[in-house]
Amino acid sequence: MYSRDTSAKLFQEAQTLFPGGVHSPVRAFKSVDGPPLFIKKGDGPFIWDEDGNKYIDFCCSWGPLILGHNNDNVRNAIKRTVERGTSFGAPSRLGNYIGKLILDNHAYIDKIRFVSSGTEAVMSAIRLARGFTGKSKVVKFEGCYHGHVDSLLVKAGSGLATFGVSTSAGIPQSFIEDTLICPLDDLETLEKILESHNDEIACVIIEPIPANNGLLIQTSEYLKDLRDLCTKFGVLLIFDEVISGFRVGFQGAAGFYDIQPDLITFGKIIGGGMPVGAYGGRKDIMACVAPEGNVYQAGTLSANPISLCAGIAALEELLKDGFYKVLDEKSKSFVESLENHIQNLELNMHIQRIGSIFWFAFAKETIRRSDQIPEESSEIFRKMYSYLLNNGVYLGPSSYEVGFVSAAQTTETLAKAGEIIKKAITHSHS
Ligand SMILES: *Cc1c(COP(=O)(O)O)cnc(C)c1O
Repeated sequence: MYSRDTSAKLFQEAQTLFPGGVHSPVRAFKSVDGPPLFIKKGDGPFIWDEDGNKYIDFCCSWGPLILGHNNDNVRNAIKRTVERGTSFGAPSRLGNYIGKLILDNHAYIDKIRFVSSGTEAVMSAIRLARGFTGKSKVVKFEGCYHGHVDSLLVKAGSGLATFGVSTSAGIPQSFIEDTLICPLDDLETLEKILESHNDEIACVIIEPIPANNGLLIQTSEYLKDLRDLCTKFGVLLIFDEVISGFRVGFQGAAGFYDIQPDLITFGKIIGGGMPVGAYGGRKDIMACVAPEGNVYQAGTLSANPISLCAGIAALEELLKDGFYKVLDEKSKSFVESLENHIQNLELNMHIQRIGSIFWFAFAKETIRRSDQIPEESSEIFRKMYSYLLNNGVYLGPSSYEVGFVSAAQTTETLAKAGEIIKKAITHSHS
């Protein structure tokens, strides 16, 4: 058993300081047992907690750390840059450099604007879509998360697919009325919504690889038809690629499926582990952003040199020949070995994977919609999770969270983690 005494003490203190003891809700370990781990350091595929325990990490700070922890190039870039100050609120050469680096290698966006988080990127892209189209309603999908943007903290109400209810207190009813909810993997309902409201709808926003409510991988036909429907009804399509961007390839899901959205939002990987977000898209749409156009959007620390240099260092690694191929192969054989174990035991579960993102689905069938996730998933995951933490494997602490294989994982660390996860799977089904 790994001791968690120090983490427990720190968490007790944190609860007197911060709401729920944390600065982002899922960190509180509400859906698994025990106090959250207080993390002291990370290096490569490993993290260490305040009790001195070492874990193989598949949370990777929720996705940004595709290179693993404490990557040499990222760390050195930050060190070099910080010698010259941290922020100027003025244009910089680094800005041009990362702008070119991205636009030269991403065929699906013409221009890009940097912000400081994924939420901010989504919020800005929605405003831009509204400003460009002069319409106000937004279609979002049940099971997709887009950060804590007011109008998007909405899920489908009972019965009617298009009648939304907020998932947070503090959201005015008037905001909810502008959000239409549609199930994933269901073109018919989407077409109905677009048909009946197209003169009011500014945009459809989707995680093309939904990875915040399980990993609800959509079919490529569905995504292509979704694109066509948006075009047909004159509605902008926003790909929220805060997770999938630079994850399943440098061009994210847009490149993976070869689908041209009108706007794309970025976060996580684009900042190399620093707080960064961005949104980009078609030239004529991006031309509406101030000061070129009249859609206001600003940020004191936007594109600060520290965040940008970390992003640059990370993105340059991703652009190296074969980066994604190697990562994909590693992830594939890791997941296949787990799948073999599951099949040998004939368990009622499987692993859904795309590139280096994976998710334990506690059902035999492929899951593409949030309402297909079996209720007992949380209980099985909770058992599995306790075993994992006690044996040195760290994942996001909820059955709804996906796992990430970082490039810092080696054949050895993946084999070791694989053995532990197999035992955890057996344990959770006994
Ligand atoms: C993480 C995430 C966000 C929010 O990004 P933050 O940096 O946490 O604000 C938005 N959309 C998607 C798809 C995400 O995964």
